[in-house]
Amino acid sequence: MIANEYSEIHSNRFRHLMKRITNSPLYRNKLCDIDLEDMTLEDIRRLPVTTKSELREAGQWGILAASKEEIAQYHESSGSSGIPSIAWFTRNDLVQGGSQLRRTGSGLTSHDLVLNRFPYALALPAFLIQEAAWQAGAGIVPSSSRNTITHYPKVLELIGQLECTIIAGLPREMELLAETARLLGFDCAQAFPNLRAIWVAGELFADARKRHVEKLWGVPVYNFFGSTETGNIATMCSHGRLHISEEDFYLELLELNSTNPINHSEIGQLLVTTLSHEGSPLLRYVNEDLVTFNAEACLCGHTGRVLTHHGRVKDMIQIDDTRLTAKDIHEGIYSLTNVPAAWNCRQLGGGLEIHMDMSDSSWNKKETEEHLASSWGLGVSVVDQTGMLLDRTRLVQRDSSLKPVYII
Ligand SMILES: [Zn+2]
Repeated sequence: MIANEYSEIHSNRFRHLMKRITNSPLYRNKLCDIDLEDMTLEDIRRLPVTTKSELREAGQWGILAASKEEIAQYHESSGSSGIPSIAWFTRNDLVQGGSQLRRTGSGLTSHDLVLNRFPYALALPAFLIQEAAWQAGAGIVPSSSRNTITHYPKVLELIGQLECTIIAGLPREMELLAETARLLGFDCAQAFPNLRAIWVAGELFADARKRHVEKLWGVPVYNFFGSTETGNIATMCSHGRLHISEEDFYLELLELNSTNPINHSEIGQLLVTTLSHEGSPLLRYVNEDLVTFNAEACLCGHTGRVLTHHGRVKDMIQIDDTRLTAKDIHEGIYSLTNVPAAWNCRQLGGGLEIHMDMSDSSWNKKETEEHLASSWGLGVSVVDQTGMLLDRTRLVQRDSSLKPVYII
């Protein structure tokens, strides 16, 4: 489907959206001066965009478009900014999200046992993964990150003991689990013969990082792209491409730093209209991600366009005439011969300063600087912070919170 083609499904779902979106206080106020009665998808550019700050100001109840009786779950996530993103899900929304995830190129069957490393507190991904697994008849091992019950050594034990076939979690969790295994003296790429795939979501996942995580674990890795507010938007196929769930979303692109629409092959800010979400539907939501679309047919047979995520708008770095997206930076770092166990970077004068914590002592700082400088077309200074960015002692800690004992 190309940018200006509207399928019948799109048109019907959009008309239905116009009927129910003003059930939410946010849109009842926002659209009160607009006649939505005869509004069609062709008119969408006449409608205002929705910003993150508007969602925050509306608050939890301000975005709810379903009745309280229809609520199945409330979700919230805090990104690096610490400001929460919020959403309501009806049971239909969860079922829809689960079925989107099942389109992953790894497939999912009743023979699978999925270790779910996404946190079960407030955040959305764990529940969509669980829904997808249950729809396929697969089993789940709930193994939340960020708690003391399922610490890193415990999770590695579970993957082996339970013969898990799929692990799901943040890309960073996959790297930290692999680092924990290394510290404990074994290699994840060799240790788990039943493991056949890894699912990741929730972070920028550039091609080079995909190759890096696949090397750490020795199995193919599949990404999901979405957010708490929108649900899952695109699912990765067996050819490593993120296919959009076209029937559930109407996606537009805006020029950077403006509200002008642009051609879909150019890099722009993603604008999301949720066509099927019931709990907290969104109209032309500026989600602050940079993306491009590609309409070429994929060998996997999926018909949806391919989405490429280039990172957050706020993470883009502009130095003189050189513009780097977060994806450009990730591609450089994860293409290194020795990928750091932890890293961060900042703009310093006319170049970039990269802080690296290395697990492999064989790396060469000068060669690393030269490689990154030539990849990015900028001056690069690498600062060795080995032992300072990653607390390896914490990774191998087995301290679990225990239930109180009353009768000894
Ligand atoms: Zn494909």
